[in-house]
Amino acid sequence: MEGHCHCGAVRFELKERPAKLTDCNCSICRRLAALWAHAPIAGIAIHMQDDATLRYVWGDKMLAFHTCRTCGCTTHWENLRPDGDRMAVNCRLVEPAELEGIRVRRLDGADTWKFLD
Ligand SMILES: [Zn+2]
Repeated sequence: MEGHCHCGAVRFELKERPAKLTDCNCSICRRLAALWAHAPIAGIAIHMQDDATLRYVWGDKMLAFHTCRTCGCTTHWENLRPDGDRMAVNCRLVEPAELEGIRVRRLDGADTWKFLD
């Protein structure tokens, strides 16, 4: 599965079709309106120039959100934990037809960290 920002400066590939997509209500995700596919870091390839994105790090500084500098689409987050082995890409950047049939789950990242559905 592949996705890219609007201008194409940032592209990603997911090696495996995700089992679910996550719609999270935490303070950053609700603002980004992202639809995340989480996967092992080894299962995702990001293709971009080093300076193609803005990196946003906040709170406990364990994630960096990447947004294309040219077109403003948030493309993925990078895991900054030394032992981190997961990351996520924003599937709003994937052609909708490719997402058909994948369950979207609502995560209460704002509070309980449980799924709401
Ligand atoms: Zn772009």
